[in-house]
Amino acid sequence: MSVKGSCLCGKVTLEVGSFDRDVVACHCAQCRKQSGHHFAATRAQNSELTIHGEEHLKWYRASGTAARGFCQHCGSTLFWRHDGTAHTSILAGCLEAPTGLKLDRHIFAADKGDYYELKDDVKIYPQAD
Ligand SMILES: [Zn+2]
Ligand SMILES: [Zn+2]
Repeated sequence: MSVKGSCLCGKVTLEVGSFDRDVVACHCAQCRKQSGHHFAATRAQNSELTIHGEEHLKWYRASGTAARGFCQHCGSTLFWRHDGTAHTSILAGCLEAPTGLKLDRHIFAADKGDYYELKDDVKIYPQAD
């Protein structure tokens, strides 16, 4: 059964056939600035991901190696794609329950904001996992 998702205004919708990993929280400076807190993203092979309303998506390159997809109408952060890979990270907040996913780990914890602590039971990596 596929999982559906959308941006806040609904111009971009998506459907995921199957995920290839659980949710990873990224606390790096780029993810913090773009999201306003931290990223929480699952991932799917591009062949498992269908995007509708792609013309409303804007891709922003914060670095030379990846692009960040967001809705240019409402600003919802939706995707992260590393160049040359066959998969796309999908922001978990845009998905409709039940997702069948769980939060698996924190990465780039060394770069996290100074106003919160990581006190849950999932693995914590100071940099990439
Ligand atoms: Zn939107
Ligand atoms: Zn990040």
